[in-house]
Amino acid sequence: MIHVVHHPDYVTPAPARSTYRWNKNGLIRDLLRAHGSAVAWHEPRATPREWLEAVHEPDYVAEVLEARVPPLKERRIGFPVSAAVARRAAIVPDGTWVAAVLALRHGFAANTAGGSHHALADTGAGYCVFNDLAVAAVRLIEEGSVERVLVVDCDVHQGDGTAALLAGRPGIATYSIHADKNFPVRKAQSTLDVPLPDGVDDDRYLATLEETLVPLLDSFGADLILYQAGVDPFAGDRLGRLSLTLDGLVRRERLIARLAIERGIPLASTVGGGYGDDALAIAERHVTAIMTLGAAFEDAKGTATASKV
Ligand SMILES: [Zn+2]
Repeated sequence: MIHVVHHPDYVTPAPARSTYRWNKNGLIRDLLRAHGSAVAWHEPRATPREWLEAVHEPDYVAEVLEARVPPLKERRIGFPVSAAVARRAAIVPDGTWVAAVLALRHGFAANTAGGSHHALADTGAGYCVFNDLAVAAVRLIEEGSVERVLVVDCDVHQGDGTAALLAGRPGIATYSIHADKNFPVRKAQSTLDVPLPDGVDDDRYLATLEETLVPLLDSFGADLILYQAGVDPFAGDRLGRLSLTLDGLVRRERLIARLAIERGIPLASTVGGGYGDDALAIAERHVTAIMTLGAAFEDAKGTATASKV
């Protein structure tokens, strides 16, 4: 059973003048529904305002929730923040928090949105409105659900907003492996950044990921991983600069799952980036990521049960 967090408002009609592919989340939902009873569905609620204000400026939170984001910030975000977009943005961070709570109970859970890692304290950026990873990480620590959270960001773009919002917060560390020459031009400082040159292929990517993430996992001692599972390191991605194959992405999820399982660390995944004209192909990549992670955790449970017999 794979625990999946979804809300109908994740599927938002495209605002006017938007180039962002708004139907991605609906396709992800449909593809996951095709897995039938293998998936257990959970619905998040609107994120409490104080959770949002724990990482974002109250003025910016109000601008979003009241759908009156100034044009300059909307340009930075990349689309207008309509009432429907605002409703969606208010729910996604709670979705990541719910996925984390489910992961603590079951080992793994996935939010079918989120990974909005470019959002900063006083503005959104790069298709991100509120930073669900930062909101969830801070909330989980504050409420005492966990003592140490590691955000692992494998999106092809640096998790600059997450790094900036979480820097210096006790019990939280951030890791980002990304294409160095890609957006954002000015990088923030994560606990550990792994910038990659253009065109890195499967083997080099996976070797670098393991070499750099293992020491951080072992020194930090996380009791939860929030995972940004962007699929834009794929060679055919419109906004990526790396050269991973579809098989390479699957191997990445198996590696991430194995490293977490070996250390007994629960993992909650978020969707992150994936761009191109074929929305269905992109949604398939995201669903493959969720199902690969979920299957690895299920297999590990099966093995653990079998070894007890
Ligand atoms: Zn990205």
